[in-house]
Amino acid sequence: MKPKKIPMRMCVGCREMKPKKELLRVVRSPEGEVSFDLTGRKSGRGAYVCADEACLARAIRQKQLERAFSAPISDAVREQLTQQIASIPKPVSAEDSDA
Ligand SMILES: [Zn+2]
Repeated sequence: MKPKKIPMRMCVGCREMKPKKELLRVVRSPEGEVSFDLTGRKSGRGAYVCADEACLARAIRQKQLERAFSAPISDAVREQLTQQIASIPKPVSAEDSDA
């Protein structure tokens, strides 16, 4: 059995390296539309953020998304992403059930 290599990506909010599957991909399409890519199949420039509203808020505040996309994020997009992340179920953490 070969050990599986876990792909790691950096969250643009907290700048921590995390397994890709624990992060949400935000993608900016060639048409300039910014949205969460829940399937991992959308084309365009991507950035990764924790499934955490705080991380998304920080990424927006520090303009990390703008930097990743080399494009401004409008208030409407910001609002949309903030609403979307609240409705996305968070990955279940094993640590929670331990407490
Ligand atoms: Zn994060």
